[in-house]
Amino acid sequence: MRKPKIVVLGAGYGGLMTVTRLQKSLGVNEADIVLVNKNDYHYETTWLHEASAGTLSPDRVRYPVSDVIDKNKVDFVQDSVVEIKTDENTVILENGQADYDYLVVALGGESETFGIKGLKEHAFTISNVNTSRQLREHIEYQFATYHNEEEKKDERLTIVVGGAGFTGIEFLGELTNRVPELCKEFDVDYHKVRIICVEAAPMVLPGFDPELVTYAVSVLEKKGVEFKIGTAIKEATPEGIIVGKGEDEVEEIKAGTVVWAAGVRGNSVIEKSGIEAMRGRVKVDPNLRVPGHENIFVIGDSSLVINEEINRPYPPTAQIAMQQGVTVAKNLSALIRHQEGLESFVFDNKGTVCSLGEDDAIGVVFGKKVKGAKASFMKKMVDNRALFMVGGVGLTLKKGKFKFF
Ligand SMILES: Cc1cc2nc3c(=O)[nH]c(=O)nc-3n(C[C@H](O)[C@H](O)[C@H](O)COP(=O)(O)OP(=O)(O)OC[C@H]3O[C@@H](n4cnc5c(N)ncnc54)[C@H](O)[C@@H]3O)c2cc1C
Repeated sequence: MRKPKIVVLGAGYGGLMTVTRLQKSLGVNEADIVLVNKNDYHYETTWLHEASAGTLSPDRVRYPVSDVIDKNKVDFVQDSVVEIKTDENTVILENGQADYDYLVVALGGESETFGIKGLKEHAFTISNVNTSRQLREHIEYQFATYHNEEEKKDERLTIVVGGAGFTGIEFLGELTNRVPELCKEFDVDYHKVRIICVEAAPMVLPGFDPELVTYAVSVLEKKGVEFKIGTAIKEATPEGIIVGKGEDEVEEIKAGTVVWAAGVRGNSVIEKSGIEAMRGRVKVDPNLRVPGHENIFVIGDSSLVINEEINRPYPPTAQIAMQQGVTVAKNLSALIRHQEGLESFVFDNKGTVCSLGEDDAIGVVFGKKVKGAKASFMKKMVDNRALFMVGGVGLTLKKGKFKFF
């Protein structure tokens, strides 16, 4: 008898969680499982701010997909997804195609530039291992070049971070640790360096506890970060950025490095495939399926789940992507075994910890506020837990963070 075929797109948090759960719950004869991913490795997206600032090697944030999949049960295909043909139950890949009975789309998100002029061309993003490597090397290049030009250009030492959300703040925390090292390495006067955070919203870390936000801002300000809050980036240029508080108050900031860390949208494959979405994110049904397509699940940054308590979407996080992976694996097992009743997804928010560099952080964990070294310890525990959930003790020992203080 022909086995049903499950195709999982993306080996990020959501995709790997789905596959590792499926390989545990389904027997070899119950289904064919195929995992498709652009690279032959998984990267910890939640660690990319460290690789981008240069406080962690880019190789530390990734591990081979083959480390966590059971090759007897899962076929791994290294390829890029181009389009999903929902009416033909097939996925077009750059170098072939993959037919499916059940599809899980876990392709993550993409940077959202909200149409701001010049951002795509002139700003760096923290999106994957390669963008992180490029950003780290660009900053180093700016420092290395500074003394080797006849006319010193101080703007080479100015780094602008667009966005004071989670990614922006975590990157700033790492950057403030890295800059003193760069100054020493390249003989640069620390006082010549400017790190500026520009945020259009009236606050830093919207949604976070105000007392913790005050703590985070004061820690980063003490380390030299200048905050421009309630200020929008109007344009990015080869020389820097143009910001404004209103129509009249416009200012040019010359900067050798501009990093855009302010928006996430769903993967462009979704819209290209004609699947209904809002900014590339699919408002999935309670079982995490695409409305009107009972055999297609979407999870992670490309999905949109409403928090009924406040009637707003949950922010895209690794935590939610992993929990969705568990639910989808259960639902797929039930479908394959023709069992009645699929599980509805309910997000169990265990809390959030935002790092402020190697040994500082803020967070709310199981409803309790934490900050400083204690929060930093919690952050490393959270990072290790994600590794453990996907790859058990072996992966945690191989890639985990054990320098707690
Ligand atoms: C700097 C930073 C810090 C963060 N910190 C936290 C945190 O502390 N806690 C938290 O919960 N969340 C955090 N997040 C958010 C979190 O990383 C994302 O929400 C999470 O990675 C989403 O998981 P996912 O499975 O949807 O996608 P991802 O984990 O991004 O995986 C997507 C996978 O799909 C692959 N892929 C993409 N396009 C294609 C294609 N066309 N073809 C083939 N493969 C493709 C990618 O290579 C990748 O392997 C952070 C994000 C950033 C950038």
